[in-house]
Amino acid sequence: MTAINASLDTHAMGSTTTTSFVESANVPGSNFPLQNLPFCVYRPCSSGVPFRIGVGIGSLLLDLRQAARIGLLQGLSAEQIEACQHSQLNSLFNLGRASMVALREHLTALLRSDSMDIETVKPLLMEQSQVEFDVPFAIGDYTDFFASVNHATNVGKMYRPDTPLLPNFKTQPLAYHGRASSVVMSGDTVVRPRGNYRDGHGGELKFGPTNRLDFEVEIGVYIGRGNPRNTSIALDEAEDHIAGVCVVNDWSARDIQSWETQPLGPFLGKNFATTVSPWVVTLDALEPYRQPAVSEAQGEAALSDYLRSPRNQVKGGLAIQIETYLQTPAMREVGAPREMITAARFDRDSFWTVGQMVAHHTVNGCNLRTGDLLASGTLSGPTERTEGCLLELTRGGTVPLTLSNGESRRFLEDGDEVTITAFCALETGERIGFGESTGRVLASTPNNLGKEQS
Ligand code: MN
Repeated sequence: MTAINASLDTHAMGSTTTTSFVESANVPGSNFPLQNLPFCVYRPCSSGVPFRIGVGIGSLLLDLRQAARIGLLQGLSAEQIEACQHSQLNSLFNLGRASMVALREHLTALLRSDSMDIETVKPLLMEQSQVEFDVPFAIGDYTDFFASVNHATNVGKMYRPDTPLLPNFKTQPLAYHGRASSVVMSGDTVVRPRGNYRDGHGGELKFGPTNRLDFEVEIGVYIGRGNPRNTSIALDEAEDHIAGVCVVNDWSARDIQSWETQPLGPFLGKNFATTVSPWVVTLDALEPYRQPAVSEAQGEAALSDYLRSPRNQVKGGLAIQIETYLQTPAMREVGAPREMITAARFDRDSFWTVGQMVAHHTVNGCNLRTGDLLASGTLSGPTERTEGCLLELTRGGTVPLTLSNGESRRFLEDGDEVTITAFCALETGERIGFGESTGRVLASTPNNLGKEQS
């Protein structure tokens, strides 16, 4: 708690006015107060015009491209002003953390209640409900970690009841290299994938649509400035290489996954879709929500030096709360709202901090590049209804999840819509929202394979 209070004080010193002239930003519970200012790329719905960079404020977003063109960014560097006019965030975040801090300070001044430019800024604001978003970075590589002890233990139990958690887990972050081409924007549909799997335990080998389609509740970070090959990023410098945080659903076909991962890692069971939220929430916005690292408190083996630092130990964690909702076709038919089925917490449920993931990823000289996506892996908590996927919630499909309308699920059915949303909140009412990752499952038919559906 001391850590939170200390960082709150620092946070409040930055500016005297903490409210925005955009009234919806000041409403208690707003996901996008002046302290957040997350980045996205968007365009007006159905306009077909090129995507542009925006910044969220209350229920609105600010058009950074237009702000750059009409001179509202004067005082920033020519590179910054140029990069604000791109259709993706790569060039902007490649300018480095200090550049982004300066840009956020500039935008804060523009959007504050006492801004000198209110009448000039107002025409550049648009309702978020009237835009469509794109994946904010050109993602070169996507890495998915396996950072939750509870997830590793719950799944491990299904295969190795006596030794669910393997001995390497607490010695270093574990991960596999995922597929960047199928990282899609929230709202895109997910066609039920086909593949090879055994029908039941030791059953017949079949090819067809997966019977065990699942979601995975994850937090992701995008890389800001990368590192040259054959260099490593030190733990205490890792966060300078992180652009920001998003919400990730790593869709998984459990039957395909379990047949193909003998002995190699995830492939077709996971590479058909990964849904990200539109917003990139910077670590600067998350400063009041820092928490101690789990690994240094609970690690049994001594960690290698590159995975330890006093700073990481005290404040490497991020108190991000994550809620997952399911809406079935039957719910939609009667106008019933989506139902929350599980809730996790990043600082509690991830053994590793985002800094440790970056430090480990590069300790062998691997080069990260701007826009690379590093996801946490399924975040599962220690109690019922905190598990981060149906595989765990239903004990491998043996105990159906009962919904309030009487329906039940072992795995996802066609028409099911999964929404993962996240936020940080203090008891004092301060809040930072991340927006949501949502996706609806479509039936697998030969006709819709490879075609866009809406
Ligand atoms: Mn995953």
